[in-house]
Amino acid sequence: MKKILSFSGAALLVAVTLAFSGCTREHKIAVVAHTGFWKCEQGGETSNSIASLTAAQDNAFWGSECDINLTADDVIVVAHGPKYKGMLLRENTYADSLKLLTLKNGEPVPTLDQYLDQLVKAKTVLVLELKKQLNEERENLMTDKAIEALKAHGVYDPKRVIFISFSHFICQKIAKEHPAFTNQYLSGDIAPADLKKEGINGIDYNYKVLHEHPEWIKEAQDLGMSVNVWTIDDEEKISEMIGLGVDQITTNEPLLTRELIRKLEKKELPVPKK
Ligand code: MG
Repeated sequence: MKKILSFSGAALLVAVTLAFSGCTREHKIAVVAHTGFWKCEQGGETSNSIASLTAAQDNAFWGSECDINLTADDVIVVAHGPKYKGMLLRENTYADSLKLLTLKNGEPVPTLDQYLDQLVKAKTVLVLELKKQLNEERENLMTDKAIEALKAHGVYDPKRVIFISFSHFICQKIAKEHPAFTNQYLSGDIAPADLKKEGINGIDYNYKVLHEHPEWIKEAQDLGMSVNVWTIDDEEKISEMIGLGVDQITTNEPLLTRELIRKLEKKELPVPKK
């Protein structure tokens, strides 16, 4: 049974009731623009840019994702890494070299502080990916400095920021030190129940993982965990994940995803069977 319950266009959320093995639950599907809404003129076709964050905010997507790395002089930059333009971020300083680099759209490589200056201008949720660093010491420092930056900008708030990471260590640290925040593990190699035992309260798994383990979606949600999926850009896969009832969809095609969710709300889209 699938039944539309309500719709909030501004927040791009649709409430769907799905029956899983006799267990019916209500939840919402949110759109996350992967590395910002970059595939548009405003976003400058430039991922992880302030322009792409601004475009995500202006288009009122629920969330906007970005990647952060720590430089040799302990500055957090918004960049996928580990290299940018051939330079290893962890081995180069922001002050002497990285700040001179520009993105495709001409912006300087943003620091997290510069990025947060834009974030605070609108309510779009920041999906902050803390990239794996060289060792746990550097991951610990980067996480602490990111938390400091969020506090300094007034967005140390579970309603404004969620954390994602491929680093099991970082997710464990956030679970221990910042348990009120949504904290989604990315690597796809641990069952939700095992993460839950450690206090990690979410998964953000690759499409292939959730396609092969759709039971993990229910397992996670039954444990009160959130489920995000990355990064799906084609209609078939997005529709499949809508049908499986994930909580968030991370995509480079947020407009398409929004439209597919709206079609579902209007019952124009047949929801794929599991
Ligand atoms: Mg990322």
